[in-house]
Amino acid sequence: MSFRYVSLCDRDCVYCGEPATSVDHVPPRIIRKSYSLHGLNQKDFYVVPACHDCNVRCLGANGPWTLKERIQFVKERIRKLNAKILTLPDWTPEELGQLEPGLRASVLSGLNHRAWVLRRLAFVPTKLTQFRGPKPRLTDSF
Ligand SMILES: [Zn+2]
Repeated sequence: MSFRYVSLCDRDCVYCGEPATSVDHVPPRIIRKSYSLHGLNQKDFYVVPACHDCNVRCLGANGPWTLKERIQFVKERIRKLNAKILTLPDWTPEELGQLEPGLRASVLSGLNHRAWVLRRLAFVPTKLTQFRGPKPRLTDSF
C-alpha cells in the first residue's frame, strides 16, 4: 500500500510549525490495517511532516483520524502538558533586574519556554487550505 505525502508546509511540523523530524500517518497506521471496515478509502490516507514532540509525545500510535481533528488534539495535548508553564506571570525588566542572577536565569528560561509553547499553540499551517481543496498537492509517495 502506498501513502501519499502531502507537503503542507514544506519542512515544518503541520501541527506546531517546529522543524519536522518525522512523518505522521493520517489516519493512524493502526486504523489503516482495517481501513475498509472503518469506511475509509485509501485516497483519504496521508503522510504529513511532524516534529517528534507532536508525533510521539502528543499523538502516539493512535489519535484522531482526520488531520483537522489531529491538529485540535495536538493543541489540547500541548496545552495540557505545559499547563504549569502557561500560568507563569509576565515580568517587567525592572522586576527581573531585582532578582539574583541564578533566579533571573531560571525565570527567563521559564518565560522562553512559555513563549515557545505559545508559538506552537498559535501555529496554523499556511498551506492547510490546499489540504481541504479538491486535490491536495502530492509531492511524493511512500
Ligand atoms: Zn510539532
